[in-house]
Amino acid sequence: MSWPRVESVEIFCVQLPYREAFTIATGTSTASWNLVVKVVVEGGVEGWGEGSPSYTVLGETRGSVVASARRLAELLAAERELSPERLYELCSQSPSPSAAAAVEEAVLDAWARSAGVSVAKLLGGPYREAVETDVTIGIMEPEEQAKRALKFVEMGFRVLKLKLGLDPEKDVERVKAVRDAVGEGIRIRVDANQGWSVEQAVSVINRIARFDVEYVEQPVRWDDLQGLARVRRESPLPIAVDESVKKPADVFKVARAEAADIVNIKVMKSGGLLGALRVAHASEAAGLANMVGCMGEGRLGITGAVCFAASALNVKYVDLDSDVLLAEDYAEGGSAIEKGARKVPEGPGLGVKVDASKLTKLAAVKRA
Ligand SMILES: [Mg+2]
Repeated sequence: MSWPRVESVEIFCVQLPYREAFTIATGTSTASWNLVVKVVVEGGVEGWGEGSPSYTVLGETRGSVVASARRLAELLAAERELSPERLYELCSQSPSPSAAAAVEEAVLDAWARSAGVSVAKLLGGPYREAVETDVTIGIMEPEEQAKRALKFVEMGFRVLKLKLGLDPEKDVERVKAVRDAVGEGIRIRVDANQGWSVEQAVSVINRIARFDVEYVEQPVRWDDLQGLARVRRESPLPIAVDESVKKPADVFKVARAEAADIVNIKVMKSGGLLGALRVAHASEAAGLANMVGCMGEGRLGITGAVCFAASALNVKYVDLDSDVLLAEDYAEGGSAIEKGARKVPEGPGLGVKVDASKLTKLAAVKRA
């Protein structure tokens, strides 16, 4: 098959409100500000992609994201022989990984549609027909977190991810309250989003281990690999890193420091689906397992991440639920979710339908 040239790129910015305020150790948000990209490739086939920027993790601002997407659009339009490898090269050089992820997803969607296959197939999969995702509960009072946990279990979720990291004493109470509420048989993992000191992390983890916690994500600062290694040595639970790994090379820094057991890959951190595959391959080579997480993507961005998660052998855990937390979205179809199981769309492309009137309604600014 050939790789159709990119003929045009359109960029939209949208504001997607959450059902309720979402608090983690680094802050509270009430909406997700996302970038939506439409490309048209040779033959008139269109593709769509979504980016969900992060100032806290990636240092991205709205201005830098839009400027990066426009620059990448110019570079792609000028390419005579665009291939997946060249697309990866251009995306990996973008100053904004989430802008690159949005543009790249749109191109892959259009290429897959042109070939009449799914994006998962384009990525070398699908290796799995569906993935089981957790659902995330933001930081709130322990009894409130327990109530949310019960509600999600009633909806059919079998895996819960609790946000911790604001108050070590209460964090122990949170995990206890949720385990008491849901009983045995439901998997619980926790994410401190860098909120603990090394001493706090060791203390909390040793106290929550008796509530059957699957693993602990990013207990301490992203750049404190020696601290992470100490937490891991003194912890009875597996340790996952998220903020510490963005690019493939970061995996080896973590592995050399013996700082983690699991690497959380996010398409937004790795600048696209092809970059995410590279992080999975690096993790496999370094002997670390992968989970796949998300920022604030809606159905469109999440569907791309599901296609990746279903296609990479090394992925053992999935945290792809941000669209569940949204009150409004402009996209439908793609990867449907039922009782925590996310189906891999059969295509063509991502199988996502963008509702133009909803996109306009949610659009903050439109740029050509
Ligand atoms: Mg995380």
